Amino acid sequence: MDTVSAIRLSLVHPVLAAKVQAMTAALAADGITIRVIQGLRTLQEQNADYAKGRTAPGSIVTNARGGQSWHNYGLAVDCAPGIRGAAVWTPNWDASSLDWETMISAGEAQGLIAGARWTSFPDRPHFQLPNIPVSPDDAARTLLSAGSMKNFWAKYGPLQESA
Ligand SMILES: [Zn+2]
Repeated sequence: MDTVSAIRLSLVHPVLAAKVQAMTAALAADGITIRVIQGLRTLQEQNADYAKGRTAPGSIVTNARGGQSWHNYGLAVDCAPGIRGAAVWTPNWDASSLDWETMISAGEAQGLIAGARWTSFPDRPHFQLPNIPVSPDDAARTLLSAGSMKNFWAKYGPLQESA
């Protein structure tokens, strides 16, 4: 696990972090080096992303506003395999690379939900904890707005089954 990934995992739910660490180790044994390319996104960051291509310059990058992505709750990460043999870690965006399927299967082997399997809007790098709704519900948004993320982790009902 590289330092960048470790720092990102330190900000997400500990159960998710442990599963991604186990997934990383399993893939390393297969010669695949993955990196956590995104972990926690704050509500402010999510809203700034949502504005891109709408009320701010740039292209549309997301359909989720603040509170509508599990990244905002520390319950999702995005990962990518690196190009094999690269001197400096470089993401492998080649959609035909088998390393993607191997990574997705390794995440599922840890019990994670893989966004790559979503039929309506596949999200290849995305993994989230099981036993929670596919997207945050009103109960989740209300609870997060009432307190800290750690308070949310301790009190959100569906999450307790993941721990
Ligand atoms: Zn994601």
